[in-house]
Amino acid sequence: MKLQGKVALVTGAGRGIGRAIAQAFVDNGASVVANDRDSIAVEKTAALCGAGCKFVPADISILENHELLVKKAVDEFGALDILVNNAGIQFHEKFLDARECNWDLTVGVNLKGPFFLAQCSARQMVQQKSGGIILNIASIHDSVALLDRSIYSITKGGVKMMTRSLAFELAEYGIRVNAISPGAISTDMNRQVLTNQQRLHRVLEKIPLKRIGSPEEIAGAAVFLASPEASYVTGATLYVDGGILTH
Ligand code: NAP
Repeated sequence: MKLQGKVALVTGAGRGIGRAIAQAFVDNGASVVANDRDSIAVEKTAALCGAGCKFVPADISILENHELLVKKAVDEFGALDILVNNAGIQFHEKFLDARECNWDLTVGVNLKGPFFLAQCSARQMVQQKSGGIILNIASIHDSVALLDRSIYSITKGGVKMMTRSLAFELAEYGIRVNAISPGAISTDMNRQVLTNQQRLHRVLEKIPLKRIGSPEEIAGAAVFLASPEASYVTGATLYVDGGILTH
C-alpha cells in the first residue's frame, strides 16, 4: 500500500493509461478522482475501481473546469495530494498541411490544460502545507520526432520542460514534479498500429524488448513516482519504452 491515505486526481481516466493509473492508485491505498471528457467511460472506471474512486466528467482544456476538479477531491476526500496530467490527444497531419485548429486543440489538451491544472492543484497543495506530487504523462516523442505528428511531439517536448520548470519552482513547498514518457503502449491511441500487422512489425523492430507495453506497466511507474520511494526524485522524466531510446 504505497499510497495509503493519499488523494489523487487522474485526468483522461476513461480508458487506456489513465484508467490503469486510477486502478493502480486505488489498489495501493489512494482515493482517486477520475476525470475524462467521456462521462460514460469515466463512470465505468469509477465502477471498476470501487468505493475509493469518484468520477468527474470535464474537458481539461477548459480552464474554468479546473477548480471543479480540485474541489471534488477536497469535498469527497478532504485533500488533494497527487495530480496526474494524463489526458492527451493527437492528430495525424503532415506539417505542410497542419491547421491552426489542430494546433489549438492539441496544445489546449496536452500542454495548456495540464499547465493550468497543475497551477490550480499546486495552489491547493501549498495551502495544505503537506507537499504533493504532480506527474505528467509525456511521450518518447518529447525527444524523438514522430512523422506527421509534429504538433503532438512539440506539446510533449513542452510537457518535459514544464516538468523541470515546475519542479524547480515548487520544490520549496515539498511538491515533487516528474514525468513519465511512454513508448508504444497498447491503448486506443495506438489502435491503427496494433491492428495493422505490417505497421506493428515495423514498430516492434525498433523496440529492444520486442513487444508493445501495457497500460499497467505505465501505472507501475506512476505508483513508484507518486510514492515515498521516489522522495528524492523531482524534475525527472522516466522513459518506459522497452528500450526504444537506446538507439
Ligand atoms: P487514450 O486511450 O486515447 O485515452 C486518453 C483519454 O483521455 C481518453 O479517454 C480521452 O477521452 C481523454 N481525453 C482526451 N482529451 C481530454 C480532455 N480534454 N479532457 C479530459 N479527458 C480527455 O490514450 P492513452 O494511450 O491512454 O494515452 C494517455 C496519455 O499517454 C496521453 O497523454 C498520451 O499522449 C500518452 N502517451 C500514450 C502512448 C501510447 O502508446 N498509448 C505513448 C506515449 C504517450 P476521449 O475518449 O473523449 O478522447
